[in-house]
Amino acid sequence: MENTTDSRTFADSVSCDVLVVGGGPAGSTVATLLKRRGLSVLQLEKDHHPRFHIGESLLPANMPILEELGVLEEVRGIGVRKLGADFPEQGDRYYTYHFARALGKTPPYAFQVKREDYDRILFRNAQRSGVDAREGVKVDKVEIQPDRSTLAHATAESGEKLTIRARYMVDASGRDTLLGSALKLKVKNQKHQSAAIFAHFKGVTRRPGDEAGNISIYRFDYGWCWFIPLSDGLMSIGCVCFPEYLKQRRGRTGEFLLETLKLMPGAVERMADAEIVGEVRVTGNYSYTCSAMTGPGFVMVGDAFAFVDPVFSSGVYLAMHSGKHAAALVDDILKNPHREAALQRDFEKRIRRGVRVFSWFIYRFNSPVMRSLFASPRNVLKVEQGVISMLAGDVFDSGPVMRRLHLFKAIYAATGLANLRRWWSDLRERRRQSATQFTGGNTPVDEA
Ligand SMILES: Cc1cc2nc3c(=O)[nH]c(=O)nc-3n(C[C@H](O)[C@H](O)[C@H](O)COP(=O)(O)OP(=O)(O)OC[C@H]3O[C@@H](n4cnc5c(N)ncnc54)[C@H](O)[C@@H]3O)c2cc1C
Repeated sequence: MENTTDSRTFADSVSCDVLVVGGGPAGSTVATLLKRRGLSVLQLEKDHHPRFHIGESLLPANMPILEELGVLEEVRGIGVRKLGADFPEQGDRYYTYHFARALGKTPPYAFQVKREDYDRILFRNAQRSGVDAREGVKVDKVEIQPDRSTLAHATAESGEKLTIRARYMVDASGRDTLLGSALKLKVKNQKHQSAAIFAHFKGVTRRPGDEAGNISIYRFDYGWCWFIPLSDGLMSIGCVCFPEYLKQRRGRTGEFLLETLKLMPGAVERMADAEIVGEVRVTGNYSYTCSAMTGPGFVMVGDAFAFVDPVFSSGVYLAMHSGKHAAALVDDILKNPHREAALQRDFEKRIRRGVRVFSWFIYRFNSPVMRSLFASPRNVLKVEQGVISMLAGDVFDSGPVMRRLHLFKAIYAATGLANLRRWWSDLRERRRQSATQFTGGNTPVDEA
């Protein structure tokens, strides 16, 4: 097929091999890799880079993908080196899970990044690679044709309309879930519900020495909070709360965030000279999964398919991992259309496996049993190292890691059984929290 999308002029009709909706990490990964496979790719992003996005802590398993895309050094230039994660208990007493101790082959580091810089690097890299990647163009409607090709309608900021004909369609529209919503595939997560308040601060104390780039995760009775050190001396701080707790919010969101942080004395210790910089933002309940990830003529990647919870910083990695594998999937399908269903099944199985590994830990993260296991880890049969591998994102291919995670689950169950009453109240609390709906909005709240 002729590559008609290389033209930069805005015509009212475009034909291409693949339409990618969304210019976040998932979209830019799949678009770049598809182009490198020789396909013509049109990528549409409704916003303009650089633009704010939440999701600033990356995982070591993401580094090889950045290297493959050719942007690792650029990302190093904007990032803060992250060598581990800590989960303080009892004030600010903490233990660092160092990525260097992971079992598998993941690199011993990752980066903390401002997403406006990170996403811009990935998007510009897609353009440099030859993708016709356009900003300020929103895809309004997608129609999958009987022959499995796509007819899509988009609108530019100028009001101009664009019609796209593509042989295949990749939905990387993030939490907008373009296809998931249109096809009614999106399902609220019944096991987990949470919402978040977050802001950037200056004047927050970092960990000393090599641990200065750690992500710190503090827990409190109604949720947990992150400290993510960013460039320019900023610290991203956010509280992820049970909906029931957030419902109590009255008055200014910034004050509510500061009041919530006071529930974690260890966190507050690091904030004696802290000041909010810019907006305080709120994100409503965001846990969902689509009942299907693929269908005739399309595939969803990243948050367009599912998002559970940010506690293990898995979102960007899952987005880019699914983007990378979706590029191979779409290329294979376009070469062997008769194998579409089988290829999609394998892809879907793989991605769901990774999501499941993180989800098991996420659903139990605030339970007393998990708190005690994370606070005083023991490396019996290398189980702790298996957990570090999970924290590094090694959730897909490593047999030794999976065996340690199974063992960890057994230890979790045994510890729970040894303290049945606590386990039962823990389970009831989780069910009660997930049954409660948060009715707050998704709109950013400007407290500046
Ligand atoms: C509170 C919170 C904290 C988080 N913290 C972390 C973290 O520390 N680490 C981590 O890895 N993850 C984190 N995440 C998750 C992370 O933000 C996402 O998983 C990640 O951004 C997903 O990437 P994506 O490319 O799938 O979607 P996105 O990054 O959301 O990109 C989707 C893009 O599509 C565009 N778009 C949407 N609809 C259309 C349309 N119709 N037409 C054109 N363009 C469209 C959007 O403008 C957007 O740019 C966090 C999430 C939340 C809610």
